Amino acid sequence: MKITDVKPIPTQPTEYSRRSSRTWTFVRIDTDEDVTGFGEATNYPGGGSLVVASTINLVREALIGEDPFDIDRLWHKIFRRYTYLGSRGLVTAVISGIDIALWDIKGKALGKPVHDILGGRFRDSIALYANGWFTGCETPEDFARAAAETVAAGYSAIKFDPFTHEMEPFHTGYVSGQISAEGEDLGMAKVEAVRDAVGMNVDVLIDAHGHYNVPTAIRIGNRLAEFEVGWYEEPVPPESYEALAQVRQNVAAPICVGERLFTRYDFVPIFEKRLADYIMPDVVWTGGISELRKIATMAEAYYIPVSPHNAMGSIQIVAGAHTMMTVPNFYRLEFSLAALEGYNAVLDKPLDIRDGALHLPSGPGLGFDLDLEFLEANPDPIWAG
Ligand SMILES: [Mg+2]
Repeated sequence: MKITDVKPIPTQPTEYSRRSSRTWTFVRIDTDEDVTGFGEATNYPGGGSLVVASTINLVREALIGEDPFDIDRLWHKIFRRYTYLGSRGLVTAVISGIDIALWDIKGKALGKPVHDILGGRFRDSIALYANGWFTGCETPEDFARAAAETVAAGYSAIKFDPFTHEMEPFHTGYVSGQISAEGEDLGMAKVEAVRDAVGMNVDVLIDAHGHYNVPTAIRIGNRLAEFEVGWYEEPVPPESYEALAQVRQNVAAPICVGERLFTRYDFVPIFEKRLADYIMPDVVWTGGISELRKIATMAEAYYIPVSPHNAMGSIQIVAGAHTMMTVPNFYRLEFSLAALEGYNAVLDKPLDIRDGALHLPSGPGLGFDLDLEFLEANPDPIWAG
């Protein structure tokens, strides 16, 4: 079997994605045996999905004529090709989209689900943790009510950033790394209200989005620890392991990092310096199914649970779920309740989500195809020109 074409598909399939410019970039790989694989390399904000899509177009010629079964070799071929550009970040997003599509092709060609050929099942379904459950919430009471409803719907772990009322502008604009005393107190009031609403048996996960400097991150982390949060995610920006170490040594709350760490190499200091209790690699950013599984195996050797970050599109959640079917040290897969409509709009069948868990279909490959007609009718407007 030979690869005959590699094509990025940047799309804005829902009103929500158009309004927020959240472009989902899918990847299509065709072969000379009429087997087509789908991957995803979505990235935002800042038009990241189009940057990645443009690069996929430039990588195409390195893949045409190759055997799509040689997944690890092709992974390395692209990774090393851009070593002078820096192979982590943009390049690993490109590789992720290709790697996922190659696993889809291999599964379809062999008539087996990806998790089957990847190592087999540790479980029958994938436990999810809920994000995106707080649409429209502003006050602590709003958050408490929405959290209770989410738990009643079957989720035993929920995540949110209680400080977005002040920190949203700093999502990609870290400047001083500080928050006002009033803003911090309001965030803590939200956490307290949510904890009171859901009780102690629900994991309340806090995402800090890398907004803080070291003293602020330490102070907030210790206040969060009083509410026994399940984890404190990205307390400081991702560039400095030393800053993370300083926070880690001074905060009682469990730490989770990894959505902005790319490939097994970025995770080595996390394990060796014992910088996190949980890791959350992203299957469409860190290097695809192959790399997510390798990172999970490294974490296994340190008894660290893996909980993939999942805030992009439909193939991302499916690819993360297939990988986690095969991993012993799995905690939960992130799932945005707000994204469900969009997920299902582009897939050939809806996701089967019951009792806070995703149940994968038994079909070959990823078990889903993309609705190409629908995607073609809803392209990214800049890409479409
Ligand atoms: Mg996060």
